[in-house]
Amino acid sequence: MQSQQSKAKTDICKICFNPIEQNTFHSLLCKHATICHECLLKFGPVLNTFKVDDIECFHIYFYNEKVQELLYQFKGCYDYELYSVFLEYYSSYLNIKFKDYEIVPAPSSKKSDKDRGFNHVEEMFKTLRLKMNKCIHKTKQRKQADLTTKEREKIGDYLVIDDVNLSNKKILLVDDVYTTGSTIKSMIQLVKQKGAKKIKVLLMSKTIDLEKR
Ligand SMILES: [Zn+2]
Repeated sequence: MQSQQSKAKTDICKICFNPIEQNTFHSLLCKHATICHECLLKFGPVLNTFKVDDIECFHIYFYNEKVQELLYQFKGCYDYELYSVFLEYYSSYLNIKFKDYEIVPAPSSKKSDKDRGFNHVEEMFKTLRLKMNKCIHKTKQRKQADLTTKEREKIGDYLVIDDVNLSNKKILLVDDVYTTGSTIKSMIQLVKQKGAKKIKVLLMSKTIDLEKR
């Protein structure tokens, strides 16, 4: 009879396509890892906390070159398989940290979602296995990249929330990249209006420039 060890199947890293080493600290922390430890280190996890008004915000990475490259491949080139590479490694930790929270994802325009065939923020944060409440929507189909800085600051004008009652809910607002903070600030206001009991923010990444200001 074969031993358990020789039977263990070898997972391949979704980023570099090298086999993921089994029985390492990395594989212990993330049993179904889809990226190897070397690739995770290239993302440069920081797990930082900062505040927007009185709300605690948590980000896993800075928006560095590697994060930018992979995110572009995922959301710009529609490489769906990459949905798990950003957060999966921390999914168990985040699942415990934000236990009892309901995720409200930052919306994209309906057109972008349709072109892509999926909503990249929802897919990325699905790995956390928390309940998802898609109650915030964009009302105008404009991409942030097409906007000037002034227009970006006003992006909040384009977000709306469904007629929901959040008074008994702990809400975790999530987004892929935190840049000017205008989207998150607007989302905070919207869920506050609906009476959210507690609000926290989780971001996959945050631009470095803002930290230096
Ligand atoms: Zn790798």
